[in-house]
Amino acid sequence: MVQAFLIKYAEIGIKGKNRYVFEDALVRRVKERLARCEGEFLVQKEQGRVYVEAKSEFDPEEVITGLTHVFGIAHICPVVLVEDKSFDHVCQELVAHMKEELGDRPFTFKVFAKRSDKEYPMQSPEICSEAGHYILEHMENARVDVHQPEIKVYVEIRARAYVYVTSIKGPGGMPVGTADRSMLLLSGGIDSPVAGYMMAKRGVRIEAVYFHAPPYTSERAKQKVVDLARLISEYTGPVKLHIVNFTDIQLYIYDQCPHDELTILMRRYMMRIAQAIAEERHCLSLITGESVGQVASQTMQSLAATDAVCHMPVFRPVIAFDKNDIIEIAEKINTFETSIQPFEDCCTIFVAKHPVTKPSIEKMEASEKKLAEKIDGMVSKAITEREVVEISL
Ligand code: ATP
Ligand code: MG
Repeated sequence: MVQAFLIKYAEIGIKGKNRYVFEDALVRRVKERLARCEGEFLVQKEQGRVYVEAKSEFDPEEVITGLTHVFGIAHICPVVLVEDKSFDHVCQELVAHMKEELGDRPFTFKVFAKRSDKEYPMQSPEICSEAGHYILEHMENARVDVHQPEIKVYVEIRARAYVYVTSIKGPGGMPVGTADRSMLLLSGGIDSPVAGYMMAKRGVRIEAVYFHAPPYTSERAKQKVVDLARLISEYTGPVKLHIVNFTDIQLYIYDQCPHDELTILMRRYMMRIAQAIAEERHCLSLITGESVGQVASQTMQSLAATDAVCHMPVFRPVIAFDKNDIIEIAEKINTFETSIQPFEDCCTIFVAKHPVTKPSIEKMEASEKKLAEKIDGMVSKAITEREVVEISL
């Protein structure tokens, strides 16, 4: 019976001190993720690997799904732990495990042995050949192929014996927390949750900011964003979500400025506010779900006009993605169904019929002068009165 999981990671360039940072973050993320699963688990690192050992009843499917959400994991191997490591007994347990995992189908295999218990009476090559014979004798469907085995059979003799034959692909990437922190502009759409997921995959810890405009946007539109933050937290770990009331600022821009510039001016204020909150929260960058050419506010000129108000780097991981490719990821991470719920977001209500697609920064700055009287106060008020929702486990 599977009681443990061996976690393999592979990222070139994690040498020296970085290796410890990577491993420690991975152990923390695994513990954090398993806290959502039924059961008690011991998570340890040992000789360049991470082991998860169940200390109570647990659901292997649930644990495997959980681990496939932890960035930094390359492979997950369900392991049978054998306390009595006399060789016959190890072989019996091994074959029982193989029958369970592989059934009756024909397969080729090769045995790989490791022995860190130097007192053990057999050496690795002997363990390989003896275990191989035992498998051939007890499984008619088995055949040896030392060059290209379908099944790699691992027997490791440590304080206990570890046997495993299955390897499940993990998500890859880097453990969240190994890169710095970033502020995601999270709307209720399809793109921004995917953008946040992609940055988290590179080890970036995510916080999020959402701009709403009650009563023009509903409570349900806000709830949808909270739901999306919860869905991405399955991958990113806990997310602090800052909800900013943008109504007064939007109405003020609407009153004072040309309507065809509305979208881009609003976006410049969103970026400024996101950046101010990011600084307060020690985030070093911003993330958006923008993709070139998708809508009027995503032309090269519009992106330049929003970048012009930021001194932090703005990361746009889906910038060169087709909508269909973004949707494919959204479906994989289970945000798509929530994203397509039809609740208006704050941009759609105030959009002009013919928004400018090639804004000049000078013109935007000239329009913003018309806001001079009240805008700073409105921005500070929006920031200080924001609501913070902690999305944890
Ligand atoms: P998405 O699918 O992510 O909503 P979109 O295609 O609807 O993107 P826009 O509405 O132009 O595109 O928004 C571009 C980006 O600006 C979004 O991906 C998001 O990062 C940010 N953004 C837009 N509206 C909001 C909002 N109300 N709150 C927070 N961020 C927003
Ligand atoms: Mg949107």
